[in-house]
Amino acid sequence: MQRLYFDHNATSPLRPALRTRLEELLDQDFTNPGSIHQQGQMARTIVEQARRRILQSVDGMHGTLTFTASATESNNTALASLNTGDVLLTSAIEHPSVRKTAERLEERGVEVRHLPHDTQGVLDLEALPAALEGVTLVAIMAANNELGNLNDIKSIGEICLEADVPLHVDAVQVWGRWPFKITPGVSSAALSAHKAGGPIGVAALWVDTRERYDAIIVGGQQERGRRAGTENVLWIDLMGQLADEERFAWPSSGALRDQLADAFEAIGGVRNGDSISAMPNTLNMSFPSFTAEELVMALDLDGVSVSTGSACTAGSVEVSEVLQALGLSEDLSASAVRWSLGPDTTEENVRDAAKTMAKVLARIRR
Ligand code: PLP
Repeated sequence: MQRLYFDHNATSPLRPALRTRLEELLDQDFTNPGSIHQQGQMARTIVEQARRRILQSVDGMHGTLTFTASATESNNTALASLNTGDVLLTSAIEHPSVRKTAERLEERGVEVRHLPHDTQGVLDLEALPAALEGVTLVAIMAANNELGNLNDIKSIGEICLEADVPLHVDAVQVWGRWPFKITPGVSSAALSAHKAGGPIGVAALWVDTRERYDAIIVGGQQERGRRAGTENVLWIDLMGQLADEERFAWPSSGALRDQLADAFEAIGGVRNGDSISAMPNTLNMSFPSFTAEELVMALDLDGVSVSTGSACTAGSVEVSEVLQALGLSEDLSASAVRWSLGPDTTEENVRDAAKTMAKVLARIRR
């Protein structure tokens, strides 16, 4: 049986149309976009076309788009380079590239506050207006990579705008898959290529032109002085292709995800996260009395790739901080496995995955 890949939230394999595009590009004679000669200008045109495509795809022509090497760099840059001020409001269930940057800012004297959420990771937006008192920057993700929860960025932006507080959005799990727009109140946003089937090693940071911005990577004048280092022309072009929303769109129905959830619930699975406002491709499921590691390893042996919310550090297994922050029982949080579907996942793949899971549970139980 072919391997079944259910780990698109980690990286979604390169889309076939981008492979073809890459071959075309490799035949072109461009070099360094900073050079004045013809080969340099060819490279410059490629970079600027990609930038324009992405800006248009997010309705972001009133801002600048800086290419980076990873979404982690985009989030770090946003929190460290923008006018963070004295008080950052974020959530306890952000990606580590935001959470750890917030911790570092805290060590440097910034007060970090967390917007409350419930046991499914749903943010308490009613608490937001009062929580904004004295806040100088807000950082909230568009979609949670572990749980799949979608946050209402449009409403959050409106509330932040009303309070005149800038909002940074980590849109990494959404951009390139489903439409993501810069709505009023959003002052910066992190985007990534490889979650949407683009190459690993290119991402971007959109920033409203009104925001003050101090580069953290300095050197040459690339990216108008916002991020030094020669641009990654090939990968930037491929990221730009993903801005074609119709050509690269992911299924917007959660039907296959729900089929998987139903099959797992029938064999003892417990669903984590928000099942109402969620990315259609993401399912976080616990199987109490098993550990996530044994499940992921057994599934891998049987040809299914998934991921756990836990991380192995120095030989010991730590439950993900996101799951811990939900306040789930230890049994639930230690047995949580993330299933993330991709644009080509079929009903047959889902049926096969559910069968394999039942087989794996029976085997481990024995
Ligand atoms: N933000 C979110 C929501 C993510 O899911 C990820 C990756 O999992 C990142 C940021 C960081 O992406 P990268 O590891 O490509 O830098």
